[in-house]
Amino acid sequence: GALFGAFNDQAVSDEASDSSDATATATVTGPPQTLRVLLAEDNSVNQVYARSLLEKHGHAVTVVSDGHRAVSEAVSGRHDLVLMDIQMPRLDGLTATRQIREYEQKRHVARKIPIVALTAYAMPGDRERCLQAGMDGYVAKPIRPERLYAVIDSLTHLNETTSPSSSTSSPNIETP
Ligand code: MN
Repeated sequence: GALFGAFNDQAVSDEASDSSDATATATVTGPPQTLRVLLAEDNSVNQVYARSLLEKHGHAVTVVSDGHRAVSEAVSGRHDLVLMDIQMPRLDGLTATRQIREYEQKRHVARKIPIVALTAYAMPGDRERCLQAGMDGYVAKPIRPERLYAVIDSLTHLNETTSPSSSTSSPNIETP
């Protein structure tokens, strides 16, 4: 219907314009935080799109396209945050996440790397499955830029200052 069409138009136009920045800057007091982001995603179109969104905010992006490489990179200490596709060849995102968390636990890693799920399907129970695997946040595909930025922001500010915007009970998880 008309509403659905308008929603899609909005999502697409955000990619080309800077209009989505307005809401993000309202609650952030410090300078924008630039991160080293590991993008684990096997679809080349999604790789290009997610990378462009991240680089637009000044983040440095490393792309891997299967779960095994996602694990080895995530535990390397070279990244600040992981965006993890759920459906990937060789090792799916949930299993990769469990392996990352197991590694961190064995090595007594003090600061666990934030992992955000990217998933194309939004079924009841997906959110719980992602949390149980050890993920910290959830972004549905197709990715809405403002949603991606909000999740990253809420996760990466938790360890430093308590942001007023993250006062709700579960700011990182949204059921689409
Ligand atoms: Mn995939």
